[in-house]
Amino acid sequence: MNESIAQAVASYRAAILETLEQLHRMPEWGLQEHRTSAHLKAALAAAGIPIQELTETGFVAELTGKEPGLYVGLRADLDALPFIDEAGQTYYAHTCGHDAHATIGLWTLKVLKELELVKRGRVRVIFQPAEERLVGAKLMVEAGAGHLLDELYGVHIRPQQEARLGQAAAALWHRGSTVAESTIKGRPAHGARPHLGVNAIDGAALAVLGVNSLWANPAQQWSAKVTKLAGGGVASNIIPDRAVLTMDLRAESNGLMEEITGKARVACLGAAAAIGGTADFKLLVSVPAAAYDREAIGHLAAAITEVLGPEGLLMPIRSPGSDDFHEFRQANPQLKTAFLALGADATPGLHDPQMTFAPEAVLIGVHILALALARRVAESAG
Ligand SMILES: [Zn+2]
Repeated sequence: MNESIAQAVASYRAAILETLEQLHRMPEWGLQEHRTSAHLKAALAAAGIPIQELTETGFVAELTGKEPGLYVGLRADLDALPFIDEAGQTYYAHTCGHDAHATIGLWTLKVLKELELVKRGRVRVIFQPAEERLVGAKLMVEAGAGHLLDELYGVHIRPQQEARLGQAAAALWHRGSTVAESTIKGRPAHGARPHLGVNAIDGAALAVLGVNSLWANPAQQWSAKVTKLAGGGVASNIIPDRAVLTMDLRAESNGLMEEITGKARVACLGAAAAIGGTADFKLLVSVPAAAYDREAIGHLAAAITEVLGPEGLLMPIRSPGSDDFHEFRQANPQLKTAFLALGADATPGLHDPQMTFAPEAVLIGVHILALALARRVAESAG
């Protein structure tokens, strides 16, 4: 099986790299991936692979075997990132490699179809919008993209500091990420008579100290900090009755995230109480931390080893970043997940407007994932 997939990838090399080039030239912001989505759908239709539209730009494509078996999936994200040029104009660019992931999703299905490797079970690719906005996975989950799956794999190219071309890991341990907001309410007064009011900025200052002073187990990775602070109005001689803090919280596990979020809440509410004011505490965005399955990691690691040799298989990578891929398992705890951290020599780094990577990584990605998914459905007993 490995040999036939290797030959297919080699014979499609130019066409696979052309897909990457085409998608790279149509970067679109999350939820606006209309051209990207249409391009992929047309390519899948031409290959006779059925698709199902689930959101405006998000869709799934699937190969179904004649025999019952495992239902396995791959998540490929579609969106690019916005930047501002020297003239102040917004432009979009694929600086996180989602063009590579979409190419891998398309060609993994095309190779599996061409070689007729899905005789049992089903293989689904979830083409997901708006990963960068951290809302796309939730939309796809709500539309039912993942709830029947047994296993789901993710893929992301890596910067060269983490993995070189020809290397890959079977788990990329993303951290959970939460954006929380607290509005502190006081009482307005004349600047000359501060004792008649409650200065919300005083409460906000205490809340910043409180958030920066919270602690959780230092053996685990986490961080909590205030990243936005707004208070006061037009006039500087009025005691402000409202201040808003926005916090960025990160944690390597969902339990730890719950703990530091709770402590940040206490810090904000306590700070407001200390000045005689009140506060609320809201979660604006919350992305779960990675929670992978040992067996799924093993299956992916086996495919990496077959394709890249034992020297190409890296230890699992701990990433300070987040990915909304983990929404799928959060919504379906039975779902077994693993994540291909694909060496691509990306430099200088992801989200950098100058980011480039080795296009050959896409060929390796198709090879590893086609092999991993084909083996899983072939091994399934039905
Ligand atoms: Zn990304």
